[in-house]
Amino acid sequence: MTYNPADDRYDTMIYRRSGRSGLRLPVISLGLWHNFGDGRPWERQRDIVRRAFDLGVTHFDLANNYGPPPGSAETNLGRILAGDLRPHRDEIVVSTKAGYHMWNGPYGEWGSRKYLVSSLDQSLRRLGLDYVDIFYHHRPDPDTPLEETMAALDAVVRAGKALYVGISNYTSEQTARAAAILRDLGTPLLIHQPSYSILNRWIEKDNLLDTLETAGAGCIAFSPLQQGLLTDRYLDGIPDDSRVRTSVFLNEDALDNRTLARIHALNDIAKRRGQSLAQMALAWALRDPRMTSLIIGASSVTQLEANVAAVGNLALAEEELGAIDGTVLD
Ligand code: NDP
Repeated sequence: MTYNPADDRYDTMIYRRSGRSGLRLPVISLGLWHNFGDGRPWERQRDIVRRAFDLGVTHFDLANNYGPPPGSAETNLGRILAGDLRPHRDEIVVSTKAGYHMWNGPYGEWGSRKYLVSSLDQSLRRLGLDYVDIFYHHRPDPDTPLEETMAALDAVVRAGKALYVGISNYTSEQTARAAAILRDLGTPLLIHQPSYSILNRWIEKDNLLDTLETAGAGCIAFSPLQQGLLTDRYLDGIPDDSRVRTSVFLNEDALDNRTLARIHALNDIAKRRGQSLAQMALAWALRDPRMTSLIIGASSVTQLEANVAAVGNLALAEEELGAIDGTVLD
């Protein structure tokens, strides 16, 4: 059936500017790391993406290796773009990355110009696109000179294969150096993609948001729900279809008694706010206006809708922030 996006798709979503760039992103973006590989039903994937766009989620985050198998998430989104969203390409921001292992041999991972340019060409073929909106270096490379990696990002923009560039998993110090190199090259750093959640606050200790503000770059956090721990998913046991049971990236060890007690305490605070735990976790991660967006995952349309509804109540009182800290800081 032909897809016609909702007319009211821009009415409730909030968009924030990425640093001092011209690009605004929805505060909730959709990530395709899990749930969009070949093992997930195609119709469900399509329904999640369609519903996201209907709700004003204009940004879809990928990487070369998302699947499984690696590459399949890009292929699957490419199919959805071709079938449903092609007429809306100019309303959509597609991002992809290279940095982790993608193919065998010396050129299939890390940060060489050889790897980054080849990988982006492969991604564009899988996506069926002429360009991506944001191309990221996925993780710092301890061996390749940062100048080479940043020059590769600059080159793909000049070649018209990406509109903006980003970095992911870089420390504050690495970020400042990368931003300075990119500025000199004339391709400013658009955004940084770190992990961040109530249970994972390394960016605060590293003063990453201050560094990004100085650089004029935005910030988009991944796994703001701590891969599902900050939801009601595990409050009463471990469901068979949950990430703990279906993925190697989250295992039962993450659900130790201390963490479970924290999740229950956080859930009680969320209930008092009239929100789900997931919604409160998203509001919390967005409390600093320098946080441009959060990349959530969703294994169903229901999860997606519940998470996007967080934008209806993003305000957190000092007292609530203190109570949240009290559950996790010791
Ligand atoms: P989240 O922390 O949002 O976790 C998403 C998972 O939590 C879902 O797949 C689902 O798991 C569960 N969940 C989500 N919403 C709900 C809900 N309302 N109720 C119950 N359970 C829920 O993010 P991800 O870890 O999926 O990461 C998001 C994106 O971030 C990725 O897709 C990717 O684009 C990016 N990313 C980037 C990385 C990088 O190095 N740059 C690394 C990791 C991610 P379930 O399967 O149990 O239903």
